Amino acid sequence: MALKVLKFGGTSVGSAAALLRAAAIVQAEVPAGGLVVVSALSGTTDAILRALRFAAEGDLPEAKATVQSLRNRHEGVAHGLNLLADIEAPWTSLFRRLLGLLEGVGALCEVRPKTKDAALAIGETLSAHLACALFHREGLKAAFVEARDCIHTDGLHGSARPRPASIRAAVATLKGRLQCGEVLVTQGFIGSGPDGSTTTLGRGGSDTSASLFGEALDVAEVQIWTDVDGVLSADPCLVPEAQPIVRMSIAEAQALSSFGAKVLHTGCLAPVARARIPLVVANTHRAVGSEASRTTITAEAPWREPGSVLSVAYKEGLALLRLSPEEDLSRAIQLEAELREAGATRFAFLAGPEGTVLVVRPEGPRCAAILANLGEEGIKVERDWALVALVGEGLRATPDAALRLLAPFQLERIGGVFSGASPISLAFLVPQDRLPDLVPRLHNLWIAPLALAKESA
Ligand code: ADP
Ligand code: ASP
Ligand code: MG
Repeated sequence: MALKVLKFGGTSVGSAAALLRAAAIVQAEVPAGGLVVVSALSGTTDAILRALRFAAEGDLPEAKATVQSLRNRHEGVAHGLNLLADIEAPWTSLFRRLLGLLEGVGALCEVRPKTKDAALAIGETLSAHLACALFHREGLKAAFVEARDCIHTDGLHGSARPRPASIRAAVATLKGRLQCGEVLVTQGFIGSGPDGSTTTLGRGGSDTSASLFGEALDVAEVQIWTDVDGVLSADPCLVPEAQPIVRMSIAEAQALSSFGAKVLHTGCLAPVARARIPLVVANTHRAVGSEASRTTITAEAPWREPGSVLSVAYKEGLALLRLSPEEDLSRAIQLEAELREAGATRFAFLAGPEGTVLVVRPEGPRCAAILANLGEEGIKVERDWALVALVGEGLRATPDAALRLLAPFQLERIGGVFSGASPISLAFLVPQDRLPDLVPRLHNLWIAPLALAKESA
């Protein structure tokens, strides 16, 4: 039987009922062996970050109380599965380690990136042990595999970059075990650096763990199990009537995720693209085997109506940095590098005779400090911008797309229009508070009619 990697996200392992559904999916999808990547229980990563913040601010009692409620929640789920006794020993040592890290943070009044990664890894490790115990109890040949022994990275804490060749060598011995029918359960999101310390791949990075394992093990398919019916035509939080997309190209998925569609981590497309493995996004909460609720993503582009749009994505919390034409371009380049090094993501770098505009998503205190000082240099910082992107293979080779698609909005404040790195996306800047109105309108104008036409065809 073909080898597969299955990844279960936070809500897919967030309760006893969800975990039982995940176990049934594993039974159905890889009865004769496969690799399962597990995220932390939903909300766990945020809770650990909160505890770290409390500790750094000197409030160790509140940090410990946060960990205690995390422990209660985990034990409640394990109890609901009748697995508490099986899991108690590994969990006790993991919670002890977490408390030890918090005490260190409290003593230094500072969260070092290395410590943060070590603490966050505990969330994924707790859930992987629980899933493994459950799969074992349900009759599968389940065994825990430590992701840090497999996902080798460059060591950049918080957003580590994977080393595919080293990962391939590290997982070589797992292949035989999978072929012998073992269901190997491992943590998502985490890896290790060249010095052996724990690294993380960035928030939402478990998807990337799954596709890295898929690439390294040459599997036939990588499946991302989540809480929606696959990739949709928009974020359902803003557009409740968004439609599932049955098939899409890797380029479309890459553009959507780069422009903010949280359903897939941006790093997860490159490994499956390199290995030419299909990536499936499916809903854990649907009946096992239901084909209706999944998206299949492959390298080949499905045919699209020329000029048509497949999906709309957006990214909030952006800052626009305006440098005057007198400012040397090298200053803009240097500033971009400084911000990226401090944890910012760059979305656009527009240089022209009227000056340079840098669009970034600043993250963390180091970025905030850089931005706070730019006024002195005469660099204007505008906050609360967002990027909206229309995506679809149908936009390839349609040079009039910007004019046509944005014409109904021409009187509104749109900050800048540009094509994404690929010719299949059209992105533009808007003030962030416009998103709840603009995204549904764009969706209903350009995507919904096509979806409805398809349904009635
Ligand atoms: P998981 O915990 O399973 O990794 P995530 O919360 O990371 O799940 O991603 C799934 C969520 O992504 C959905 O619940 C939905 O709110 C959001 N999302 C944003 N854009 C899209 C989109 N285009 N298609 C599907 N989901 C989207
Ligand atoms: N648990 C991590 C996060 O919340 C990774 C993931 O869910 O993919 O970001
Ligand atoms: Mg996710």
